[in-house]
Amino acid sequence: MNRTETLHGLSQSPKVDVCVLGGGINGLSVFRELALQGVNVLLVEQADYCSGASAALSRMVHGGLRYLENGEFSLVKESLVERDRLLRNASHYVAPLPTTVPIFDTFSGLANGVVRFLGLTRRPSRRGAIAIKAGLGIYDFLTRKRALMPKHEFRSRRATLSKWPALNPSIRNSATYYDAWVSHPERIGIELLRDGLSAGPNAMALNYATVEASGSGYRLRDGLNGEVLPVQPRLIINATGGWIDIANGTLFADEAGPAPLMGGTKGSHLIIDNPALRDMLDGHMIYYENEDGRICILFPYLGKVLVGSTDIRVDDPGTVRCEADERDYILQSLAFVLPGIKIRPEEIVFQFAGVRPLPASKDSFTGRIPRDHFCTVLEGKNGGPPVLCMIGGKWTTFRSFGELAADMALDQLGVTRRVDTADRAIGGGRVFPKDPESWIRDLAASTGLSVARVAVLFERYGTEAEDIAGFIAAKPDHPLPHALYSARELQYLVRAEAVEHLDDLLLRRTTLAISGDLSLVMAEAALDLLAAEKGWSAERVAEERSRFLTLMGERHGVTEHTLSARNEHRSELCETTAKSG
Ligand SMILES: Cc1cc2nc3c(=O)[nH]c(=O)nc-3n(C[C@H](O)[C@H](O)[C@H](O)COP(=O)(O)OP(=O)(O)OC[C@H]3O[C@@H](n4cnc5c(N)ncnc54)[C@H](O)[C@@H]3O)c2cc1C
Repeated sequence: MNRTETLHGLSQSPKVDVCVLGGGINGLSVFRELALQGVNVLLVEQADYCSGASAALSRMVHGGLRYLENGEFSLVKESLVERDRLLRNASHYVAPLPTTVPIFDTFSGLANGVVRFLGLTRRPSRRGAIAIKAGLGIYDFLTRKRALMPKHEFRSRRATLSKWPALNPSIRNSATYYDAWVSHPERIGIELLRDGLSAGPNAMALNYATVEASGSGYRLRDGLNGEVLPVQPRLIINATGGWIDIANGTLFADEAGPAPLMGGTKGSHLIIDNPALRDMLDGHMIYYENEDGRICILFPYLGKVLVGSTDIRVDDPGTVRCEADERDYILQSLAFVLPGIKIRPEEIVFQFAGVRPLPASKDSFTGRIPRDHFCTVLEGKNGGPPVLCMIGGKWTTFRSFGELAADMALDQLGVTRRVDTADRAIGGGRVFPKDPESWIRDLAASTGLSVARVAVLFERYGTEAEDIAGFIAAKPDHPLPHALYSARELQYLVRAEAVEHLDDLLLRRTTLAISGDLSLVMAEAALDLLAAEKGWSAERVAEERSRFLTLMGERHGVTEHTLSARNEHRSELCETTAKSG
């Protein structure tokens, strides 16, 4: 069902069982859960899917080693179970990540860990070798039955510095353990959406739309054309993450709203294009503590290096960006752990920020606010539908959090669960081949695309590459000013994946922007293609260009000048591709 059909359907029949507000990873997860049970469910997202915190994470799929310090054992256990499920169910995007912790002390962190656990202090302190060993022992114990990845190991100072000579020489030793990372978190969101929509016409979703109180009921507002329609849900799920209290304000417009549920903290990251740094990491994440005790991370990401993050209280998640002082903090932390590596300003090719949806807390140390998730049900306004609020939640645990909220919703609706998602593969993780090389060769042979092209599609989309390769091969294609994309591939994404703005395509359906691989000519070529698909006027195209460049400049630190400086580099790549056929 496309957008016009969805809006038309709602105008004919405004009754839905459940209306989910928020299309971040948690909203999409509960949407998929309910759709798969045959529930009549509508999801509305005020911006694009996975454009809030779900696009701003550190891209770790992890148990959360440091949450052990807060005594959050059950969260760590649940996260490790979900991490291991994602390694199986989304193996096209989630992969093991060897993670190395440089250690500067032997004993510190122990006494502090105990008093913190007893609730006597919240102050962070240095974590010494024994405290880290204890944490990693618990990690290994919790995963011992599944044992998908090797156990942790310690390295002496000498062995550590011989493997990573650029590390701060004042380390005493290091520990390496395994967690996981996700390459395309925004695409997993789209795959959950498509999985839910494919359950049947009972499942509907709209990005760029909101639902708000109107008189004694609710109305849906289409953010693209301003159309307003009544909706009559039996239950509302507020899955708006850091916006939860703002969204409750619009749902309980004419009443004293509920007490605040959320207290978000902002975190920022940089993407750095420094091949020496990337190669030096040798595929490892460095999970280190800065001099102030805050945990920071860096690891190779799509040919660049991802470094972060900060932890600052904020009120409005809509306006966050990586500020200059955060950028300085991240670079200073990098200089502390890797004093030999110098980062030039032009090597920062992208930056991003988002708000962690954490439960309301008065804790003065943001790192100590609980990371667990839970749901609470608010009575509806004037006897209207109840509002189930999803509070907290990490990206890693989206499935179990969605399952929890869906089970509560099913209970309210009196519907029995019929599909379990614990072992259900996601999107391009379905029927994942044991031998990818022969899968790629077979698909290349059946579509007539080159093996190299199909290999790129497989890396980008997993087994969904089959549909995309079929689409590309069905009609004449033409190149774009980027060696590894063509017009038909982007056309597929525009038609199949609810692309409404240029940033949806370049920031979330593809990794062009975040990987620092986007040039101005490529952005303009993608805009021309999108405009042709949508039938946009010249005026609308100009607005869209300006929207995109403003967003890139203000939110991601990438100016029009930077994008255009990348043009020359790109045309060289295109020539190479053309010559190689
Ligand atoms: C800096 C940082 C690093 C992180 N690192 C990790 C990590 O490495 N691993 C991990 O597991 N987790 C990590 N997290 C946590 C994780 O990103 C979040 O917990 C998760 O993405 C939250 O998803 P969500 O769907 O609840 O919220 P969001 O993704 O923020 O989605 C909420 C959505 O609701 C929409 N919305 C708001 N108001 C309305 C309305 N009225 N109507 C309709 N829609 C509305 C918003 O536009 C938004 O898209 C990190 C978070 C941050 C900020």
